[in-house]
Amino acid sequence: MAFMRVAKSSTLALNEQSRALEAAGRRVYRFGFGESPFPPPQRVQLALREAAHRKDYTEVAGLPELRERIAAFHQEADGYPIQREQVLVAPGSKPLLYNIMRAFQAAEVYLPGPSWVSYAPQARLAGHEVIPIRTSFAGRWRLRPDALEQALSANEPSTRQKLLVLNYPGNPDGLTYSVDELRALTEVIRRHRLWVLSDEIYALLHHRARHVSLASLYPERTLVTTGLSKWCGAGGWRLGALILPPAAPTALVDALLGLGSETYSCAPAPIQVAALAAYELDEELHAFLAAQRRILRAIGAAVHAAIRETGCRVHAPQGGFYLLLDFSPCADALRRQGIDDDSQLCERLLADSGVALLPGGAFGLPGGSYTARLAYVDFAGEAALQEAENIEEKAASYAAKMLEGIEALGNWLRQLNSSR
Ligand code: PLP
Repeated sequence: MAFMRVAKSSTLALNEQSRALEAAGRRVYRFGFGESPFPPPQRVQLALREAAHRKDYTEVAGLPELRERIAAFHQEADGYPIQREQVLVAPGSKPLLYNIMRAFQAAEVYLPGPSWVSYAPQARLAGHEVIPIRTSFAGRWRLRPDALEQALSANEPSTRQKLLVLNYPGNPDGLTYSVDELRALTEVIRRHRLWVLSDEIYALLHHRARHVSLASLYPERTLVTTGLSKWCGAGGWRLGALILPPAAPTALVDALLGLGSETYSCAPAPIQVAALAAYELDEELHAFLAAQRRILRAIGAAVHAAIRETGCRVHAPQGGFYLLLDFSPCADALRRQGIDDDSQLCERLLADSGVALLPGGAFGLPGGSYTARLAYVDFAGEAALQEAENIEEKAASYAAKMLEGIEALGNWLRQLNSSR
């Protein structure tokens, strides 16, 4: 019997492996799974409790009042006009991303690498050609306008639709684009009339609150995805949102609604009601966001400094909660130990030292370039929120277990370098 071959998402697989090691009594440093360490705000949790009786299906697009609220929220947070009709709500941004892919037909999907694990599998499932665009450590893993231009011209002439996927602040790199970098990219994007899927799920966790949405620069064809998973600490609640361009073709909107109605029907009604409380950009919420940013900035800085001590190359984080480690300075020592790629590197590292990282290959990087993603979320987020005012002094103690793990990583690398 033949079934479609779809590998389990690598992040989930690693989480299971780490749990199994822990169950066997091993100390595991969980850097593999990128889940927010913070709880949703009390008022949002309360709203969910009170909405338990909501057993109705809602409109596929989401509750009208929630779409309205999300439009107003992002209009204020991102500084560009958004109407309620532009917002679609779904059970997580992942199904929205997939349905966007499905709504296009036999397109060229331009994918700068490294990129989040699910874009390429989703694009292939939707029947598209994935055109990877390489970026580099030296270029801060940023998509450069000339690299985009080159990838586009290499595929010309073409009558296919062209979709570019961007994600910033980024998973797995923790880096973002400056407004000048975005403007330069927009010139190429506009010239080629690209559709852009701009995954801005970490936008509100830009460590300095300086996120610029691509939709504010290229409103014609930018599809922004976002949701409660990261900034509201509610990944398992499953609530995502899509902000469509103001003049989105009716055929695209109909396709998305049709796909939604044939797959998930709607986001869970109680979660949508709770989301009404989350998407209220009042002082309390501003303070909640500011506290998370401050904590992530302080802990990110401590973890980044410790990683640099190990001999790995890494850029200072700008948003979200990831670092992309580049082990290439240790390439000779790794090869001497028979470690030929990033998967073997992560397997050996986990088995020898209990440090769980995700191989860069999962994010579209070449295995032989020895990269791996580290998520710095293994700390007491709820307690840290109470002490956000002076978290800088306490970052090392909150990050103690992670710093211990990084020391284990450093020791492992030192041993590797010293053995012949
Ligand atoms: N996009 C990126 C870059 C992510 O890291 C994640 C979750 O890890 C998602 C999308 C999916 O988020 P959601 O929980 O909204 O489906």
